[in-house]
Parts: sequence; C-alpha cells; structure tokens
Amino acid sequence: MLTSEMVKEAALSAGADLVGIGDMARFEGVPAEMDPRAIFPEARTVIGMAFRIPRGVQQGIEQGTQFYQYPSMAYGGINEIFAPAVLYHVGKMIEDHGYEAAVYRNTGARGVVSDMDGSPGNTLSPEEQIKVNEQAKNKAAHHRSVQFTRPAREGGVAPDLQFHFRLAAVVCGLGEMGWSKMFLTPEFGPLQRVAFIFTDAPLEPDPMYSGPPICRRCMACVRECPGQCLSRTESITVYVGGKKCEWGRLDEWKCYAFYTHGGRKFNPFVPREVWDANENGDLNLLEGKCTANEAEIMKVYGALEKYFPSWVGYNMAKCGGCIRACVSMLEKKGGCMEHRFRRPLRTGKAWVMDR
Ligand code: SF4
Ligand code: SF4
Repeated sequence: MLTSEMVKEAALSAGADLVGIGDMARFEGVPAEMDPRAIFPEARTVIGMAFRIPRGVQQGIEQGTQFYQYPSMAYGGINEIFAPAVLYHVGKMIEDHGYEAAVYRNTGARGVVSDMDGSPGNTLSPEEQIKVNEQAKNKAAHHRSVQFTRPAREGGVAPDLQFHFRLAAVVCGLGEMGWSKMFLTPEFGPLQRVAFIFTDAPLEPDPMYSGPPICRRCMACVRECPGQCLSRTESITVYVGGKKCEWGRLDEWKCYAFYTHGGRKFNPFVPREVWDANENGDLNLLEGKCTANEAEIMKVYGALEKYFPSWVGYNMAKCGGCIRACVSMLEKKGGCMEHRFRRPLRTGKAWVMDR
C-alpha cells in the first residue's frame, strides 16, 4: 500500500528538500479559476515539494557583481530542471502503485486571470507581450498567448488553470506566508521554490504549519524594496483550510518593474545618462513619476531589456531586495535561519549606487 512516508522518502531521495502532504478539501473556497481540483477532480491529495535556493546563488547580487546566476540557477534551473526531474520520479512511483500523479511544475503567465494582479483579460507577462507585439508586426501568431482562452466545456474553467503556489504550499503544511508575500519555511526562510503533484492516492495529510510565527513582522522587506512596492500597513488576508494567511499589500506591477530592472540606484547595467534622458517617458515608472500598470511596465521593458537580456527565458532579476533583507534579518535576529551558516549573509549595509 502506498503511504505518505513512501512518497516523502521518494521525493527526498530524488532531490526535494522538503515534502508536505495536504488534503484537497483544504482548497474549498478558493476562486474557481484558481482551484486545482478542476485539473484533476478525483484527486484527494496534494503533495508539495520545496527546492531550496542556495544562499550563495544571490551572493553576486548581494555584492553587486554578478546578476545572472540567480535567474538562471534559482529560477530557470529549479523550475525547468531540478524540480521537474523530481516530479517525474515521484509521479512514476505513485503510478507504479496504481494511482495517478498529475504533476504541476512552477510556471506563470499562462492563466485566464493575470498572475500579476488577478484581473481577467490579458494574461500575458511583459516578456510575452513584447514578443506578441514584435510578432504582430509580421502577422505571426504567438504560440504562448492565452489571451483568447475559453472553457473547453460548458461550466468549466478556461485553461491554463493556475493556482496560488504559495497558498498551496501552506495547504501542504510546509510553512506560512511572510509579510513580503514570500513563502517562508522554518528550514529555509524565504529561500525555496515549490512544485506539486495532485493524486487520487488517499495519503495521510500533514497538519498545516502551526509552530511559532516564521515571519517576524520586522518590515526589513518593506524598507529594502527599491520601489517601495510593499505596504507597511495595508494587508491581504485569506483563509486556506481554516488557516489565516496574511501578507502586506504588494503592488505587483511595480514590483515587476523594479524586480527586473532595479531602478536608477540598483541597476549597474544601465548608464546614468539613460535614466537622466528618460526618453519618451519610458522610465517614468522606475523614476517614481507615474503609477504602475501593465502599459507602463511594457515601456520599461521595451527601453531596458537590451541592457541585460533574458537569455534563460526568465526575468532578469536585479533586486531581490526583499528576499535578501529577509534572510539577513532572520539570520541576525532569529526566527528560523540563525546558526545555519558560519558567516552571515550580510555584515554591513546593502549597496546602493550614488546617482
Ligand atoms: S523581512 Fe521580516 S517582515 Fe518581511 S517577510 Fe521577512 S521576516 Fe517577515
Ligand atoms: S522583489 Fe524587489 S521590487 Fe519586488 S517587492 Fe521585493 S524588493 Fe521590492
């Protein structure tokens, strides 16, 4: 008989760093277009796996000297290579026992609602929109566009269904939401990415996390965001499986712009003259001269993409200010990461360019 212990052992031995098991009933009440039960209605169990981000992957950004390793290793590497290999391995093991394993690796920008702000309609990410715009000039269809998606059957949900990854990780008992909207675990703080398997195997679920709060509400993430994208006072609260999950209100589009392009003081790849010129007002969003929306971030992308191309197909991660601030705080002040490393991530102040 297939047991939770067997699944966990398989996942850990294949390379997952954490495994938790949740009951699908914990998704009761989530919006229909984000309810994973529509992917596999007979599924009874969700298996969540966390893949840790080595702290050193961000060392280059911490020093301001190497920015490529984080998006390529901690985004592309985990999402495209390491996690899918484990999902594949564990999925096969589950199916060898006569149950089905619907795997779901990390993805984005493919849903019927925007994965930026949850709004319906155009669901393209900025990178995709750029390609759509370019290809539209040649009247060629874009193969990843989902903006015309429709339910495949009456009363159904339009593909591609995307659920809330971090809340699914809560469902699996792996940890909790931090104020920064990052998912935190007792083992690795904010340093992990997650992937899931839905199965009809009736596995014993883990309880949801109920230990000491992992997030210290220290607001280091708020302070060290170059775009002031996170609110210090306003929050979002949802309940998952009866557990309260609360995080600070995040301006997702603004974060998208600053996360990928840093802004004048946090992007060494873009000459000062380009910021000063702010041609056509393309950098208004990063210069604090307008509110954030999709149109404004498209201008930013169009203007700055060439300075740090996205060769791995992932965002050009510049800042990570909130994640590094969180790691540094949890190491120094305690919570979950103290004593893990012989040397703290940060001993002085974080760098900022004087311009
Ligand atoms: S930096 Fe502080 S407030 Fe922000 S998520 Fe981490 S522990 Fe929570
Ligand atoms: S990723 Fe960067 S821009 Fe986004 S909230 Fe964190 S620090 Fe701010």
